[in-house]
Formats: sequence, structure tokens, C-alpha cells
Amino acid sequence: MRQNILEMEQYAKEFNVPIIEKDSIAFIMKFIKANGVKDILEIGSAIGYSAILMASVGEEVKVTTIERDNNRYMECLKNVKKCGLENKINVVFQDALEMNLSGVAYDLIFIDAAKGQYLKFFEKYKYFLKPGGVIISDNLKFHGHVGNRASITSRNLKQLVGKLENYIDFLKNNDEFETKFYDVGDGLSVSIRKNEI
Ligand code: SAM
Repeated sequence: MRQNILEMEQYAKEFNVPIIEKDSIAFIMKFIKANGVKDILEIGSAIGYSAILMASVGEEVKVTTIERDNNRYMECLKNVKKCGLENKINVVFQDALEMNLSGVAYDLIFIDAAKGQYLKFFEKYKYFLKPGGVIISDNLKFHGHVGNRASITSRNLKQLVGKLENYIDFLKNNDEFETKFYDVGDGLSVSIRKNEI
């Protein structure tokens, strides 16, 4: 397992695949353990690095992870198999905004996909949380760009950062969820559902 994780880190570096920072995944793993999280939905699998680490926290932890890029999906499947976690990780090849879920509910939803679509992911998937469930979002600092839009020259990047800033405001002003922001890795938020939606 340790060796597989190291190989994934190496692969990600070599092929420029964005994977979660070590501090951030350590934070999430600790959260899973401390809160007895069992059922997890991850939006954005990439090569399966975070899904595998989350699933490895405990016997009862199960992860469904969604990826829209075919190469990454294939790589993810390969890595899940290598780690012997096929029974604990369900890898879905689909655009998360087009997926139809029914009859499922998660303790934790981890949003780690296209940064410009976080609000859409949140609004779509919040209905699939168990009472008291949480949504964790990664990359809220976006490598130091969030909060520093004026210094960005690229129009696309500026737009993306603007969307993340809107998302942060949306979380801060959301009555259904209580959100805490953590200065861990590239910036994480933990949004706890208050009531039935
Ligand atoms: N969670 C992974 C990890 O830490 O190991 C990293 C995920 S990477 C930052 C984001 C991934 O989300 C990319 O592989 C991208 O193809 C995928 N993605 C982006 N938008 C998506 C969408 N709408 N549906 C499914 N996957 C998406």
C-alpha cells in the first residue's frame, strides 16, 4: 500500500496530475476517523490517490468517486485494483454534473473537481447527505490567487478565481450549512448540514 501511494505521487508529478496536498488529505483522514465517517462521495477522482487514502482509514469506510476524464478513470481503476480496494471503492466514469443519484446518502461529500463549478456541485449533491453530514471542499486558496484577483492578468484565471470567491461567500452566507474554513494545504472548508433540506 505504502509503495502504491508513493508510485501514485510519482505518477502525478511526472504526468502533471493534480492530487491533494499531503496536509489536506491527512486532515480529511483524521476527520473521517474522528467522526466515524463510513460512506463517502468524492467528486474528482483523478488517479484515485485521495479515494484510496480515505478508504484506507477504516474497515467500514466506502468511497464512491466520480471522474470524467477517461485516462484518469482508467488509471484510477488500475490503482484501486493494485491496492485491493475494489470492494470499498466504486469508481464512476461520468461528468458529476450529469450523474443521477437516487436512494443513496453519504456522511461526507468531498468536492475536488473543476474549480469553476463548486457551487453547482454543492447545490446538486447537498440532497445526498445524511443528517449531520458534511461537504468538504478543497483548493479554496487556489495557490494564493483567491483574494488577490487584482494582481491576476489572465482573463480565464481571473474568472475562475472570481467563481471560487463567490463560492466562499455562498458558503459563508448559507443558512442550511455551517461552514468552517481551514488554512490547511491549499485551503479547505468543512460545511456541516444543520437541518433537513
Ligand atoms: N481528488 C483527487 C486526488 O486528490 O487524488 C484529485 C482530483 S483533481 C484535483 C480533479 C479531477 O476532477 C480531475 O481529474 C478532473 O478530470 C475531474 N473533474 C473535473 N470536473 C469534473 C466533473 N464535472 N465531473 C467529474 N470529474 C471532474
